[in-house]
Amino acid sequence: MSKLYFRYGAMNCGKSSSLMQVAHNYEENNKKVVVIKSIIDTKGEKFLESRIGLKRKVDILLKEKESLKKHYSKLNNEISCILVDEAQFLTPKQVEELWDITKKLNIPVICYGLKVDFKSNLFAGSKRLIELADELEELITICSCGKRAKFNARYVDNNFTLDGKEVLIDGSKSNVIYKPLCGKCYLKELEKYK
Ligand SMILES: [Zn+2]
Repeated sequence: MSKLYFRYGAMNCGKSSSLMQVAHNYEENNKKVVVIKSIIDTKGEKFLESRIGLKRKVDILLKEKESLKKHYSKLNNEISCILVDEAQFLTPKQVEELWDITKKLNIPVICYGLKVDFKSNLFAGSKRLIELADELEELITICSCGKRAKFNARYVDNNFTLDGKEVLIDGSKSNVIYKPLCGKCYLKELEKYK
């Protein structure tokens, strides 16, 4: 029986680089992997890009609410591992399908994603992953104060905000950026904002 893994963290915790490193390790040993990305994330489109300059083509660009079932033919026993980036954007149903793949097709699935959104609420995909994953692992990011970051603060034109919809990709428009913050720094921003 294979496992479903959820490796989560805050912004900039190196999710994409660590995914690409894992893919590289498999391929170095002549093993095949399938890389999946949710299409909600418009950054890089058919490519995964990491801040340290790594780049890789995505095998399955998964549309919102698209079933993974139609891709099952690609997921044969030659596949050693499925790697999913931006897993917070998966629907609960898609997470259930990935879980199904680990148990029925016996392929391990490693999902990388953010745990909470800019308002500190769990993303729907991450919630289902926390419920179903066999293994949870936190990827560490550091806040500018040096403590471990757990929160993703949204800034528009350099102002902290709790406004707007859950998904607003940085770099798209209106000068949106995200910063990983520790609890103390996030709370300080919340109190200033009120
Ligand atoms: Zn801090």
